[in-house]
Amino acid sequence: MSELPDKVTIYDTTLRDGSQLEGISLTVDDKLRIAEQLDYLGVDYIEAGWPGANPKDDELFARARTELHLDTSTLVAFGMTRRAKGKVDSDDTLRHLVEAGTGTVCLVGKCWDYHVLEALGTTLDEGVLMVSDSIAYLKDLGREVLFDAEHFFDGFKANPEFSLRVLEGAAQAGADWLVLCDTNGGSLPFDVEAAVRDVVQYVGSDVGIGVHLHDDTGCGVANALAGVRGGATQVQGTINGYGERTGNCNLTTIIPNLTMKMGIETLPEGRLDRLTPVAHHVAELVNMSLNPQAPYVGTSAFAHKAGLHVSAIAKRPDAYEHVRPDSVGNGTRFVLSELAGRSTIQLKATELGLDLDGQAVNDVVDTLKHLEHEGYHFEVADASLELLMRRATGWEPNWFRVESFRVITDDASPLTSAGEAPDGVTTEATIKVWVGDERAIATAEGNGPVNALDLALRTALDGRFPALARLHLTDYKVRVLDTQKGTGAITRVLLDSTDGEESWTTIGVSENIIEASWQALADSIVYGLLRAEIRG
Ligand SMILES: [Zn+2]
Repeated sequence: MSELPDKVTIYDTTLRDGSQLEGISLTVDDKLRIAEQLDYLGVDYIEAGWPGANPKDDELFARARTELHLDTSTLVAFGMTRRAKGKVDSDDTLRHLVEAGTGTVCLVGKCWDYHVLEALGTTLDEGVLMVSDSIAYLKDLGREVLFDAEHFFDGFKANPEFSLRVLEGAAQAGADWLVLCDTNGGSLPFDVEAAVRDVVQYVGSDVGIGVHLHDDTGCGVANALAGVRGGATQVQGTINGYGERTGNCNLTTIIPNLTMKMGIETLPEGRLDRLTPVAHHVAELVNMSLNPQAPYVGTSAFAHKAGLHVSAIAKRPDAYEHVRPDSVGNGTRFVLSELAGRSTIQLKATELGLDLDGQAVNDVVDTLKHLEHEGYHFEVADASLELLMRRATGWEPNWFRVESFRVITDDASPLTSAGEAPDGVTTEATIKVWVGDERAIATAEGNGPVNALDLALRTALDGRFPALARLHLTDYKVRVLDTQKGTGAITRVLLDSTDGEESWTTIGVSENIIEASWQALADSIVYGLLRAEIRG
């Protein structure tokens, strides 16, 4: 094993590679907001996009110049080497890259002989020149240049001599970093470590070596760790591991691994505890629920299910947690279920900072047993549970009071001819609420009852609570509990919400799906207002 480096440079490619994930579609505004989060976290590089390849990225680079103020991160434009047999000074791709105006560029090029011969249909000599010419051209223009060696690990296996020739050409042309890419993502850690070591030995220490690893074997993070052991001093990846297919090396996992497990500097001092909030904020911006089981940053990452050792965890958390949750901005959670006894409730109360006396604890235990019997499932609905426990202390939310609501769903389309799907289904909600002694009535249309109720309530509250603007629903799950009864069965609704800093789940149970949805929605909004108030 080579000696470990003191510092590993973190290169984020959420905005380019990460946005390749199915289901992610980012506006230019979204990208600017994500870049701000990355800078706040403190990554070294932010690969913002591919100028010239799509108009959104051109707009992004143009707006970044005036709208984006980065303190810690360097913005990078991404592009491809010149085309085969072309000239660097008349190459459109390179021109766009230069016009993006960033001081640092990342250039992707081929270093697998198979790709050069088959995909480019050119000679291996020309393959090397495409890389070295392009890098020399950008270096002449004063750019810092990273060379992304596409399909490096496959190419190195097939024809190591050619892959090393490409890397050598890139280094001689002045590349600042050689980034070894596992583009197909099929490598395993030992192969990565050995290959990186060979490259480091071959090119020497004049040029930095980075690794860019896709997660197709489930080893994206493990491969990056292996790469660092092999001598890489830059790791590329994405927040929450976003990326095409199975994703990229997950920065929210590898950063704490490198920092806390291997003692290597990654983020600037004192920033590691921004990891969990940033992971959640970015998840919100890309509009995907964060995997609760995500290491370090997931809501279950430090969750302990109530059981025999609960009081032991409370006394000696280090015996049950591999790192301190607050070091990454997360927290310990005790998960409750109907099995929860007094001691677990007491512990949960302590976690929430609630003062529950003996009688209140007994009441909560009884209420939970009763509600779980009815179909509630508080294990997953942490926010509803917290509200229930707070109410047991005598607390009542007083932001607003609902007098009544009504939801109408109708099919307003004129008679359609046979076989044609009706397209005129609309849902309208009307709500009457009191804020203090003011009564407000609002009506809103939505795509479905939950959406209509949510909009109507927000309209009725009309800007009285600024925190509501940042709160939104991210997921809505309905489960029918007693399938024997069909539509007469009990419905359980779980609602996931976020305000960009925290995410939470609320629950509603009823024979009526709208009633169940409303309970979950009302809890979510009350909880959001509560969190905003607690944070101040
Ligand atoms: Zn990639």
